[in-house]
Amino acid sequence: MNRYRMHINGEPVESRRGGWFPVYDPSTEEILAEAPDADEHDVDNAVQAARAAFDSGAWPQTTAQERGRILLRLAERIRKESAMLGELESRNSGKPIVEAEFDIADVATCFEYYGGLATKVMEHVNPVPDNALSLSLKEPVGVAGQIIPWNYPLLMAAWKLAPALAAGCTCVLKPAEQTPLTVLEMARWFADVGLPPGVVNIVTGFGETAGAPLVRHPDVNKIAFTGSAAVGKVILKSAADTIKRVTLELGGKSPNIFFADADFEAAIDGALFGVFINQGEVCSAGSRILVERSIYSRFVEGMTVKAKRIKLGAPLVRETKMGPLVSKEQYERVRSYQELGKQEAKLASGGGRPAGFDKGYYVEPTIFCDVDNSARIAREEIFGPVATVIPFKDEAEAVRIANDTPYGLAAAVWSRDIFRAFRVVKALRAGVVWVNHMQPTYVEAPWGGYKQSGFGRELGPWGIEEYLETKQVHINLNEQPIGWY
Ligand code: NDP
Repeated sequence: MNRYRMHINGEPVESRRGGWFPVYDPSTEEILAEAPDADEHDVDNAVQAARAAFDSGAWPQTTAQERGRILLRLAERIRKESAMLGELESRNSGKPIVEAEFDIADVATCFEYYGGLATKVMEHVNPVPDNALSLSLKEPVGVAGQIIPWNYPLLMAAWKLAPALAAGCTCVLKPAEQTPLTVLEMARWFADVGLPPGVVNIVTGFGETAGAPLVRHPDVNKIAFTGSAAVGKVILKSAADTIKRVTLELGGKSPNIFFADADFEAAIDGALFGVFINQGEVCSAGSRILVERSIYSRFVEGMTVKAKRIKLGAPLVRETKMGPLVSKEQYERVRSYQELGKQEAKLASGGGRPAGFDKGYYVEPTIFCDVDNSARIAREEIFGPVATVIPFKDEAEAVRIANDTPYGLAAAVWSRDIFRAFRVVKALRAGVVWVNHMQPTYVEAPWGGYKQSGFGRELGPWGIEEYLETKQVHINLNEQPIGWY
């Protein structure tokens, strides 16, 4: 059995109590590897290592140039090993190999971006009305605890680690229990690229036994979390005890809105891509497809015809457009929503397990039409390939339905009328809005949600800000006493 080790204080380590958990290939349901089952003692070791690397100055006091160079070397190594990483990511998560390869390229780009940004953090002179020099200095927050989900395993790790390291923070990262492998592969290169021991620590394990102690730990200064809204709420409450800085990237139920004047073929493609990419296991999935009534029937028909042609298959086959879901638990969850949908709306396509697959957590791409926005399938995040298509009569109704959700991560609007498109953009309560596209994501642009999709922004200069404190420094230039007494 291929056993991976965690990465604490620069060393590959097992868990203190010696437990392991299985990591699966979701296309075969077979065990791919094992990883250490960490508990709070392992988390404490990792936090102490990160604390020491921070407090000794081993990382925060390196120059920004040096930190940047190390991130660039890590990016170079990732590019060199991208074939291995892509294949492992695909096998472990079930995502099609072509998508996994895009992810790994984005991982390298993320480290390159923050490698460059490390030297571009600006500090300010404040124009105070006195004979004084007033400065705003930027300093790293300290030890960052980072908890990530399984849908984009190494990419989510990069979104967390790269800005934190560029800022001068040290890190303890807990990957999702389903998908810890690629980040553990990456950890093998930390010493080679020049990361001092303790700067990045990877702890594997389960949410309640490894994630929760990280959030509670008094020596952790900040928690960056990506995951479900339910767990986000638990984390926010727990972090309150030690007043940690918290950023939350949570789920969504994002509207993808189609007006009758949109390019029809592009719109059908955009509706399918928006909700079925990565098996629909995407926080920003356009899972509520809002369509103007005058094109509604033709639109549902167009989606259905194309959805039936989506090639399901083994993740490593290059023609595969949709692989299995990540786990048995996720498979059962999505299957239960497929059944619920049959009671709540009209099934247009899919709705079950595809024929011809004896093994693997495969589900059909599923489209429900004539959905009422109050139905559970339109309100709850399914996190799988299940689309709900909802008709609307005019712009006002489209905006009202789109915003009628507790979430606010993303949205898209399709129209050739630029005035209308921009009116709708302004009216949507979401952190990311696309026009005539859905899903493109760039490290240069901010990412994060409104409402219950969380707070804080990742990527771009916004991402590094979340790992920086601002220190005000006042330097008195008057040589005279204050003269008050
Ligand atoms: P979860 O919220 O279940 O888990 C996310 C991470 O939190 C995992 O590492 C998990 O560990 C850990 N965790 C679970 N319970 C606790 C706890 N009590 N304390 C600390 N950590 C805990 O989400 P999923 O992994 O199921 O991922 C899917 C969710 O992530 C979706 O809701 C999706 O929308 C969201 N997501 C949001 C993104 C965004 O950018 N907004 C991007 C990607 C996903 P373990 O795996 O061991 O349970």
